[in-house]
Amino acid sequence: MSAEARLALVNHPNLLLRSASQRADLLNEGPDGTTTTLIAFLTDLCIEKGHFFEATAIRSDHSDDSELGAHAHRSSPGDAIDGWFNSEPKLGAYLDQGDPRFLAGLRDAALDQYEYQCGLGGAALTQADIAAAGPHEFADNGSDHVHFGAVLS
Ligand SMILES: [Zn+2]
Repeated sequence: MSAEARLALVNHPNLLLRSASQRADLLNEGPDGTTTTLIAFLTDLCIEKGHFFEATAIRSDHSDDSELGAHAHRSSPGDAIDGWFNSEPKLGAYLDQGDPRFLAGLRDAALDQYEYQCGLGGAALTQADIAAAGPHEFADNGSDHVHFGAVLS
C-alpha cells in the first residue's frame, strides 16, 4: 500500500475525519502509525463501496489498548478504527443503526478480505446489526460505535 493510497483515502470525502491527528495517523506508515491493511480496508469500504464512515477514534486519539496485542488501536502500528456510518459525506450526519444503509455497510465490511473484526458498541449492538456484521462480530464495550479491525499486514 503506497503513500499515494493513504493520501487518496484521507482526501476522499467519504471518510469523515474529525481532526488533524486522525489524518496524521492514517498517513503514517511507521510503527506509531497505521497498518497498510487498515488503509486497504477503509479504501474498499469508503471509496470502492461508497459508504460514508465518520471516524471517532483511530490511534493517537484512542485510549491505550496495546495489551490486546497486534489487533488494537494502539498496537504498533495501529490496526483499528472506531466510527459510525453516516447518511452523507458530512460530519455528524449519523444514520440510525437500523437504517438499511448502515446494515449494508456492516455487510460489505464483513465480506471484505481485509476485515478481521467488527465490534458493535452501545446503540449499534442490536440483533439486526449483529446479523449484518456476520462472523467477525463481537460485542464491544463503551459508547455507541462500530469498531473495525483489519487483518494483519
Ligand atoms: Zn475500537
